Amino acid sequence: MRQAIRVAESFCAHSWIYSLSHFVAIQSEPHPAFAYANAPLPACGEGVGGGVEAYLMQLRTAIKLKQRKATFFQVGYLTVDLISSQEECYLVLQIYIHLKQRRSLIRLFFYRGANLNMDWQSLLVVSSVISFGILENLFPFFSFKESFDKRVYTNLVLGLINVLANNFTIALLLNCIWQQTSWFGIFHFIHSPILKIVLSFLLLDGYMYAWHRLMHTLPIAWRFHKVHHTEMLMNTSTAYRFHPVEAILANLPKLFLIWLFGITLENLLLYEILLACELIFHHSNWAIPLKIDRYLSYLIVTPNYHRSHHSQARKEATANYASFFTIWDILFNSYNYPRNPKAIKLGLPQEKKELSIINLLKLPF
Ligand SMILES: [Zn+2]
Ligand SMILES: [Zn+2]
Repeated sequence: MRQAIRVAESFCAHSWIYSLSHFVAIQSEPHPAFAYANAPLPACGEGVGGGVEAYLMQLRTAIKLKQRKATFFQVGYLTVDLISSQEECYLVLQIYIHLKQRRSLIRLFFYRGANLNMDWQSLLVVSSVISFGILENLFPFFSFKESFDKRVYTNLVLGLINVLANNFTIALLLNCIWQQTSWFGIFHFIHSPILKIVLSFLLLDGYMYAWHRLMHTLPIAWRFHKVHHTEMLMNTSTAYRFHPVEAILANLPKLFLIWLFGITLENLLLYEILLACELIFHHSNWAIPLKIDRYLSYLIVTPNYHRSHHSQARKEATANYASFFTIWDILFNSYNYPRNPKAIKLGLPQEKKELSIINLLKLPF
């Protein structure tokens, strides 16, 4: 039973991540949050019909009456409604779980319960979250003594900050790129759709390799990327442990590539979805058979292969930069499969204690 609860918890904790794959960001229509942000606030007594207006009204009343708890709930409901996506809804659920707000949790379930029609993309990511969440709990590679909360909470909050920050910056820029008609990109001259898919995938993946390597080479970039490497209890949620500055900046050169090559929404989506699944997979604490891990690492990034990149040993940490295909590490001489994965010490030698969210945000400065 306890195992089942932990698995269920794991599901709740990680299912929101699909939003990280820029789902909201790559909708060609403006994000609904922008429309709401520009809409005038309803006066008290209006908007009884439910939804954002009703929550705004109740929020105003709660603030007026100085009801702190009610204010908190209304902000929560409003956030869910504004973001308007089931994945972020999961995240707010998670926050309620942590704050032990049982009543708001139940209300949120009822509120969103009927609204979970998933498309194939969400299904794919959510099912990988469930699978790897279950597997890392049933067959852990390292047996961490720390509680589940301790292992995922910081990463989830950082993930939430990154999702929101990206939705409000990259979403706008992507809309501009896809709506302009003056330059359709280099891939516009290629007629085979299959070739376009393959080239888009390789281009984006090659870029991810170059970006990650740069993060380890440039001292200023390392200050931010270090946040990801302070993780001592690596698990699926580590995939979201990034400093917001890195999370946003990593997308800027990518936007340039999308514009230059004319990568379409569908092809970007395909890469981001598969990358999201791959990130959950290779950060998971799942002990997959050594031989399978090793052979698979000649094609894609595997848990042991990436564990080695998270090692405290400098030689191991300055290799295995790939995010999806390991071909980049093989081509650019940074492939290094660990000899004894069990001996890997995760984290950074100078950071002996788990850092709080505030300390992680302050770390680069
Ligand atoms: Zn790294
Ligand atoms: Zn990592």
